[in-house]
Amino acid sequence: MTWAAISTWRMSFDGLSEASVLLDKGINAGDAVEKLISIVENNEHYKSVGFGGLPNEEGIVQMDAGFMDGDTFAQGSVASIENVKNAISVARKLSENKTNSFLVGDGATKFAAKNGFEMTNMLTEKAKKEWQGRLSANHQEQLRAYDGHDTVGAVTLDQQGSMAAATSTSGLFMKKDGRIGDSPLSGSGFYADSQVGAAAATGLGEDIMKGCLSYEIVRKMAEGQSPQDACDQALFSFAKTLKDRYGSCDAISLIALNSKGEWGVATNVEFAFCVSDNEHEAKIMIAQQAAKDRTKIFPMTEKWLADYQKRTESTID
Ligand code: ASP
Repeated sequence: MTWAAISTWRMSFDGLSEASVLLDKGINAGDAVEKLISIVENNEHYKSVGFGGLPNEEGIVQMDAGFMDGDTFAQGSVASIENVKNAISVARKLSENKTNSFLVGDGATKFAAKNGFEMTNMLTEKAKKEWQGRLSANHQEQLRAYDGHDTVGAVTLDQQGSMAAATSTSGLFMKKDGRIGDSPLSGSGFYADSQVGAAAATGLGEDIMKGCLSYEIVRKMAEGQSPQDACDQALFSFAKTLKDRYGSCDAISLIALNSKGEWGVATNVEFAFCVSDNEHEAKIMIAQQAAKDRTKIFPMTEKWLADYQKRTESTID
């Protein structure tokens, strides 16, 4: 029976591997995607998601997460939530609500505490040290908005043909208190329709939101495009329009899966992603922008992995 999963960045590999085992055993798409994301959230080495995520400019880790069920379109999100171990589980729980399914700030945090979600201080010593380092005026001036962020985004297809999409992130390092990116916004950070396919995004949220890119990919797949064509066209035609009309387009990477289990990826930077299905083991791949507005995809190299390992586990001082 067909099942498949795709997820953003190298950090999602363990989560995707675990989700693949479960999908193979027949778990549903929603449980699989929640499991995948929560494994990334629980790994303190990843500086842009969950525990160990980098804080905002006030030194507070504020997280955003979203979940969508592709069968029913049920959708739940949290934004600027604090002290909650697994923001994704709170988002999924909220997707059961007909109203009040997207909560932000204190409201989101209170909901999590009241409903028995694990509460904990999400700021690790390592993240605090990096934040303190960045507080110096010199550093702040040099800091680009893009420094120190990524989102785990994932899409799953289960053996019954159901699909789900989800995201989780601590957003931009040194972001303003209360800043929210694309990740918890359905249509921008993620979108799922089991009859067509699903997509998720990572990159500068302020730009992704301008094009509602996850919905755009699903819409293109509904018109008959392959996931790869839909990702490439959604990204590169929008990036061009944004450059013309807004003056710039920052880093954006997109993943998609259709209801047959075919996948696609587009990026305007170097982008690692993970993918698996009932015929292929979980693997990490690298994508890069090629000429003619297409994305080239390569197998992962040992050297890239070794460098990555060093970067994520090094002590920051
Ligand atoms: N999209 C996320 C945000 O803007 C960050 C990222 O994926 O790199 O919050």
